[in-house]
Amino acid sequence: MLEKYDLHCHSNASDGMLTPTDVVQRAHQQGVTVLALTDHDTVAGIPEAKCAANKIGLKLINGIEISANFLNQCLHIIGLNIDPEHPPLLENLLKQQNVRADRAKRISEKLEKKHILGTYEAIKKHVGPSEITRLHFADFLLTNHHVKTQQEAFDRYLGKGKSAYVPTHWVELEQAIEWINSAGGIAIVAHPLRYKLGVKWMNNMLTAFKAMGGIGIEIINARGTDDEIRLSCHFAETHDLYGSVGSDFHNPENDWLELGLLRQLPGKIKPVWDLF
Ligand code: AMP
Ligand code: MN
Ligand code: MN
Ligand code: MN
Repeated sequence: MLEKYDLHCHSNASDGMLTPTDVVQRAHQQGVTVLALTDHDTVAGIPEAKCAANKIGLKLINGIEISANFLNQCLHIIGLNIDPEHPPLLENLLKQQNVRADRAKRISEKLEKKHILGTYEAIKKHVGPSEITRLHFADFLLTNHHVKTQQEAFDRYLGKGKSAYVPTHWVELEQAIEWINSAGGIAIVAHPLRYKLGVKWMNNMLTAFKAMGGIGIEIINARGTDDEIRLSCHFAETHDLYGSVGSDFHNPENDWLELGLLRQLPGKIKPVWDLF
């Protein structure tokens, strides 16, 4: 059978809108046969997703998207095929989740200085035990008419260097890869072109990433243009990295960013699923 892969998406265990069950069912409706749930710094959605996947015969890959620091840059590292019950992984993620919660409180404090009050409390009440990301703040700002679009929330408040931006000490890249590898998984750089690194920087980062035990980069995601795919392939080939495919789906409102709505991985690239 020809598989259809989507190896990057979010549920409401982090900043996705749908429950893990709804994400799996939607992926199935979109023709996805192999799905990785990759919530930000948490594996909490995986048991529910697995249960839903088993019921409909979809293959679920246990995944995560870890925020990591490399020099002064925050990178998102996808872990695929991790053991979501690996005790050291869970312990380490708890630390990362504390970093996330502290940062959310500090973003909220910075917004108070802009006379936008009570964001942390409101978001926390809404999400319960799920991981809070800047997307939750963007949604709050949008819903409460402080901005007209999510993008404006990032441009005015939440983006790097803006008034409510909080520089954050995420786990170091090498550690993040180690967490993934020791939980039996493989490490992939998510959306490598979104960091806007120069070519030299990108090459340095990928050299380091590979030396640290990283395996691949995302080549295909929902927003990639032909030129971006070509450039990503170039980086994968130069550094002998595997290629991954993932929509980074968060919610059903963007019809241009849908589960499984992805182009084929070019034949010259080694697919990460060869390693599954
Ligand atoms: P965080 O990991 O808390 O820094 O939040 C990052 C999340 O915010 C990403 O995973 C996206 O879901 C969202 N995000 C980041 N930048 C943007 C943007 N410019 N527009 C919309 N969403 C964004
Ligand atoms: Mn997100
Ligand atoms: Mn990401
Ligand atoms: Mn993501």
